[in-house]
Order: sequence, then structure tokens, then C-alpha cells
Amino acid sequence: ITIGIASETATGERRVALTPETCKKLTARGARIRVQRGAGHGASFSDDAYAQAGAELADDAATALDGADLVLCVQPPPSTTLSGLREGTALVGLLAPQADAARGEAIAQRKLIAFPLERLPRTTRAQAMDVLSSQAGMAGYKAVLIAAQLAPRFFPMLTTAAGTIRPSKVLIVGAGVAGLQAIATAKRLGAQVEGFDVRPETREQIESLGGRFLDLGVSAAGEGGYARALTDEERAEQQRRLGEHLKSIDVIVCTAAVPGRPAPKIISAAMVAGMKPGSVIVDLAAETGGNCELTQPGETIDSGGVTVAGPLNLASQGAVHASEMYARNVLNFVNLFLDEKAVEAGALSFDWDDELLARTVWPERTINA
Ligand code: NAD
Repeated sequence: ITIGIASETATGERRVALTPETCKKLTARGARIRVQRGAGHGASFSDDAYAQAGAELADDAATALDGADLVLCVQPPPSTTLSGLREGTALVGLLAPQADAARGEAIAQRKLIAFPLERLPRTTRAQAMDVLSSQAGMAGYKAVLIAAQLAPRFFPMLTTAAGTIRPSKVLIVGAGVAGLQAIATAKRLGAQVEGFDVRPETREQIESLGGRFLDLGVSAAGEGGYARALTDEERAEQQRRLGEHLKSIDVIVCTAAVPGRPAPKIISAAMVAGMKPGSVIVDLAAETGGNCELTQPGETIDSGGVTVAGPLNLASQGAVHASEMYARNVLNFVNLFLDEKAVEAGALSFDWDDELLARTVWPERTINA
């Protein structure tokens, strides 16, 4: 079995899907691994480290992927690269096949066995493979650090000879994986932290991290443990209560999302106008449009003295640990079809009765009766 890893090509992407640690585990099993020179540099993994872990180094992407049975990536390779893959190659990564028509076509045309990891069902068994969770953790952490950096205030309470400084009031919007890590991080920095979510079970999770649950009187648990979109009435009620509350908040970190939909708009321009000058909003949801009406993806703007930042791909900013976690998730996923038997046989073996494979693969497989 040959596994190929090319350098990531998306702008600003520093992560890598294979680390020397996971490389060593796969080569120990007998897999042959080709890594493009420099593929790990963004995440501080040297070519030497891969070579020591048993990988062959390739001078370019085409050589790294040539004849590979399995290609690992973080973001999707360019469609031209996909079109150059051998028919039937397995591909694992955050592939977003529907986000780009040329990409979807290349996957179908080359009959690639594509596993977009964002499709992985979030069952207990899949937890060790859940890249959305591992990467959201880093994103939530970095978002708070960015907010602390942009804020003209301390986060912690300080008692000094120059008087007492009140702690910053930080509100985390959305308490999923990123939001809970944001709450924990802001708490460690000494802020007074509040969080809210539409899933009622988050109250206990927020409180267990030392945060206060901000009750806006709206509960909208949806399918599969995710949130559903709010009705107009629910949204109006959430907005009214929130607008009033934000007047006392120094920092907002937004993380709210609904799968497969644009980010819910929660912080209106009018709410921002009502906030104190010097307040900061960091909108992690910028990638899918933002939770704040004023968010400009990839930009930091000033709106009447309130800073609104919409950073993109925050997980990439913590590339070392984000890659380590991502690569372990990928290794655990690949274990579903790449065991010693497969290596011996020289072919990957997919058990399509395994729901983790069957529900992740794209295009969706039609079951033959
Ligand atoms: P996500 O990124 O889709 O959404 C982030 C948060 O935004 C969610 O908590 C959601 O409830 C919240 N949200 C949506 N609309 C909102 C609104 N209008 N106002 C306020 N908040 C809003 O979610 P995620 O972080 O990827 O995961 C969601 C949940 O799924 C997690 O909290 C977790 O408990 C669960 N999960 C379970 C497993 C597992 O069991 N294997 C793995 C991962 C996640």
C-alpha cells in the first residue's frame, strides 16, 4: 500500500495530515509513504523527521501522489491534482466535495473513494476520528487569545497600587466544541465568563467550566445533537434580551453554527452600536458568514469604537498541535480499512457495512439490493 502526502495548497494553510508520529505507525505496519518535501514545514515538522519515520521524500506533489492507493490531506487538493490521481485512489481529508463543482467532478471522474471527514457521523465510536472537534478546540482557544490581544483591557481582575481593575466581561456565543474551549481559555485568563447556546444541555457544560449560563429563553435542540435554525419569534426574543445584555459586555467570541447552513446572525449592527467603545468581537463563524452582521471574513474592522474581527482558519494558527490531533484522527479513521491484512494483500479493503465508512464516503453509495 502506498500513501501519498502533498503539501497543502490553500492560502494560509499550515497544517499537515500526516505527522512523523503517525507516519512511523503506518510504516511500521508495512505501508509505503511518500511525503512531498516541505509538506510539514508549516507545522514545524522537518523533512528529516519524516525520513526518520520511514517516509520517502518526493520533490513535487505529482511524485508524492504518483500511483498512491491512499492520499491524505487537510484541505482539498486542487482539482487538477485530483484529476491526475490513479482511478480508485482513496482520499481522506476535509474535502467539501459539494463546495466546488470542478472538485466534485474530478472525484467522480477519477472514481476516487473520497472520505470527506466533515461527513463523519459524530457517534461515540467516531470520537477518536472527529477532526471537526479537534480542530474546533484549537480555533476556540486561538479566538480568545486574539480577543485578548485586540482588547484595550486586562482580562483578569488586578489589585494594584494604581487601583483595582475589574475583570473583563467575556461572552461566548455558542457552546459547542469551539465555544467550550473558548470559555475554558477566557476563564484561565481570569475573565468573568458567560456563555449561551440554544441547546439546553450546554448550561451544565458551561457551568462546569466556571462560566455563567446566559439564559435568553430560547431552546432549539435539533437532530443528532446539533442545533436547529430558530423560528422568527424565537430569534426576535433572543435578540431583544441579548441587545440589552451586550451593553455591559467587553468581549464577545462568536462560535454559533448550524450544520450545512450559513452561520446564524445573532449580533446585529444595532447591538454593536449599543456596546461600549473599546469592546471587541471575534467572530469564529466568519467562515460561514459570521454570527455578527458586521463581520467581514478575514478582516478586522472598527465600528464606532467596537473592534470586529473575522479571522479565518484559526486551527491553522496552532498548526503543530492542530496537525498532531488531525493526523491522529486521520490515522484512527484509516485504521478502518488499512490493517496488516490490507497491507499484505496490497489493497485497501472497505467494509461498507461499517456505518462510519458508508456514511462518510462521497458520492453517497447506493446500496445494491
Ligand atoms: P457546531 O459547530 O455545529 O455549532 C456550534 C454551537 O453553536 C452549537 O453548540 C450550537 O448549538 C450552537 N448554536 C447554533 N445556533 C445557535 C444560536 N442561534 N444561538 C446560540 N447558539 C447556537 O457544533 P459542534 O461544536 O461541532 O458540535 C455540536 C455538539 O455536538 C457539541 O457540543 C457536542 O456535544 C456534540 N458532539 C458530539 C460528539 C460525539 O458524541 N461524538 C462529537 C462532537 C460533537
